[in-house]
Amino acid sequence: MVLPADDHVHSEWSWDAPGGSMERTCARALDLGLPAVAFTEHADYTAWIVLAGELDDHEHLKAFVTSDGTLAPPALDLDGYLECVQRCRDQFPQLRIISGVELGEPHWHSGVAASLLKAGQFDRVLGSLHCLPFEAGFSEPPNLYRRRPAAEVVREYLAEVPRLIKGFDAFAVLAHIDYAVRFWPSQAGPFDPREFEDEFRHALRELADSGRALEVNTRGQVHPEIIRWWRDEGGTAITFGSDAHDPTALAHGFHEAVAVVEAHGFTSGRHTHDFWTRSG
Ligand SMILES: [Zn+2]
Ligand SMILES: [Zn+2]
Repeated sequence: MVLPADDHVHSEWSWDAPGGSMERTCARALDLGLPAVAFTEHADYTAWIVLAGELDDHEHLKAFVTSDGTLAPPALDLDGYLECVQRCRDQFPQLRIISGVELGEPHWHSGVAASLLKAGQFDRVLGSLHCLPFEAGFSEPPNLYRRRPAAEVVREYLAEVPRLIKGFDAFAVLAHIDYAVRFWPSQAGPFDPREFEDEFRHALRELADSGRALEVNTRGQVHPEIIRWWRDEGGTAITFGSDAHDPTALAHGFHEAVAVVEAHGFTSGRHTHDFWTRSG
């Protein structure tokens, strides 16, 4: 099997990836036989409310907590990042290295996000939703699940996705539509995407109508239903993203994800690094 490009990877240039390494990720990509890697570093502008104990498994993130109890992500070092991309392109000429960025909630921060895109001239732009409104601010799903019924969190997340799509048109790929599902609490029973079919279909239809691509994010479980609904709602393009935050997670789960995507009629493009598209 020829693996697709890994179109969603973080390196040491992402604020939450201290174990990342662009250089070692490139070396690993060649070992795995990947045709291309996109380094889509975080650009997050939403400060989110941190609850007690939330970061206990993520010590390295505590440095970004401000005196008001929110986590304020630091800015992307664009010059450092772009220089590193160039160094790696020189060092690994056999690998296609795609420059990129993962914009968090760009529809709430369209001015700064647009400025970054202008300055960075990235090859690949991912649009992401990580936070939702919470009390007087914002929060990530783990906290939202502590305060609200699990199904409500997923519904709120999927309702915000169309607002992200309509509110910011300068991203090409919607990242992890199932981000909230990663944190689904076990006490709510097994997650069943069919319970949220209408909400998923609505978000997928908005994405398809906007002409953008859906990412199959392999950090969580891949749900075949979502690929099927994407096809049904008119979606034509798919990317694969491991969302790796260190080199060992590169292309994690790609064999299984490729099998699911192929079973729904999508195939690789003319070039191995292209988006996958509907074959019929
Ligand atoms: Zn993300
Ligand atoms: Zn990511």
